[in-house]
Amino acid sequence: MLTPDWPDPSSADPAGKEDGVRELKGLRRRLGHLQERLWADRRFALLVVLQGMDASGKDGTVRHVFSGVNPQGIQVHSFKEPSAEEAAHDFLWRVHQAVPARGWISVFNRSHYEDVLVVRVHGLVAEPVWRRRYEDINAFERGLTDSGVTILKFFLHISRREQHRRFERRLQDPRRHWKFSPSDLKEREHWDAYQEAYADALRECSTPWAPWTVVPADHKWYRNLLVARRVVATLEALDPKFPDLPAGSAPA
Ligand code: AMP
Ligand code: MG
Repeated sequence: MLTPDWPDPSSADPAGKEDGVRELKGLRRRLGHLQERLWADRRFALLVVLQGMDASGKDGTVRHVFSGVNPQGIQVHSFKEPSAEEAAHDFLWRVHQAVPARGWISVFNRSHYEDVLVVRVHGLVAEPVWRRRYEDINAFERGLTDSGVTILKFFLHISRREQHRRFERRLQDPRRHWKFSPSDLKEREHWDAYQEAYADALRECSTPWAPWTVVPADHKWYRNLLVARRVVATLEALDPKFPDLPAGSAPA
């Protein structure tokens, strides 16, 4: 089911941007504390998957939501076009290596879902091959949760219009040129095919153990807030504990 508990009943909509930004600050602080407990406890790991069209704000979400976390306990992995070595393995191989160990948080900027998105849109493998991958993904994610990894998957959903606006800004602002890639315009031509591929991926791979959350992402502050709320609520539910002193540690 898609985001079964959406909207989050524990948190009312903010009155506006100012409120939202203030709330985010508090959430970031809480996230920092929770991560320390996660690290000390060593029973659980958290995997956050970020997907979305170009310019949907995957990088910005990493920066704004996770900047209060001790860099020692978090890893961010950006998945690009597979290298020759990666391409020579099964599609989950490179992803599995980036899965967080217990105590860690991993953020995936793109993920194994590219293998049913860009790969499908561009016909990089035959349809029966990518169709089977939904099942492979569900089994893979199930196995991870069985070994203590909590998985949160966010689809940052921007409108076509907002993407256009962001591309324009990237083209006009010299400080943003680096963010622009000519291939972005090419991909934009496949907008509808991507939306269809996303709809299928979300439907096929929204499982009780690894649900997708659709995040309205045209407004950056709102996007950050929704992701932060969900990450914090998830860690609070996990409730990692500081371990007790080992026996015999008391000073004589
Ligand atoms: P960016 O996130 O802007 O740095 O771009 C990374 C590019 O790598 C995107 O165009 C992705 O679609 C592409 N990419 C990521 N994973 C795969 C994959 N498994 N197969 C083909 N292209 C991929
Ligand atoms: Mg890009």
